[in-house]
Amino acid sequence: MNDLKTLLKAINFAAKKHTSQKRKGADEQPYINHPLEVLNLLANVGEIESYDVLIAAVLHDTIEDTETTEKEITELFSANVCKLVLEVTDDKSLPKAERKQLQIEHAPHLSDGAKQIKLGDKISNIRDVTENPPNGWSKERRLEYVEWGEKVIDGLRGVNSNLEKRFDETVAEAREKFQSR
Ligand code: NDP
Ligand code: ZN
Repeated sequence: MNDLKTLLKAINFAAKKHTSQKRKGADEQPYINHPLEVLNLLANVGEIESYDVLIAAVLHDTIEDTETTEKEITELFSANVCKLVLEVTDDKSLPKAERKQLQIEHAPHLSDGAKQIKLGDKISNIRDVTENPPNGWSKERRLEYVEWGEKVIDGLRGVNSNLEKRFDETVAEAREKFQSR
């Protein structure tokens, strides 16, 4: 059974795995800020109490963006946590456009836990695209990212009204900011 101690172990594990990575924004925040924000959104906005979902949230970019293996996650956390992380992991061997299309197509078929992690991930990324965008991204590219995020989330609604409301507010703030410039 996963519990608070296992969640703390997962935070420590993710911090070590992402230790040399930075977010893409101009202020070069430590990468771990993003999985921690997703974790916080799920616990305190989404009011999620499942430790498996919270642990998978903080680990959600480890397989995709670090050397982490499925075996490590299964042995240290559980097969269910590993399954949730894999559900939100893109296949990086595919071209980027295909990966983005597959996220839209897969969204309706995810488990409820993975849908909620996706919501937290997209809230965090759309806020970053609004407040602290990757270097060199034009306003058009930032808006395209928001519109793609909306397509992904439209395919998984009905799973957590608090997170969906926060997502809609985040998109509205992004649009307002882009339109006022
Ligand atoms: P990327 O996938 O390259 O970058 C976005 C991802 O980077 C996020 O999903 C997030 O993933 C991670 N990330 C790290 N730091 C930040 C940050 N500060 N802000 C936001 N995200 C961050 O994006 P794409 O290249 O796919 O571009 C997005 C859109 O732009 C697409 O719709 C694409 O079609 C379009 N595009 C437009 C171009 C143009 O010039 N108009 C050119 C190329 C693409 P994670 O959750 O894993 O951290
Ligand atoms: Zn992420």
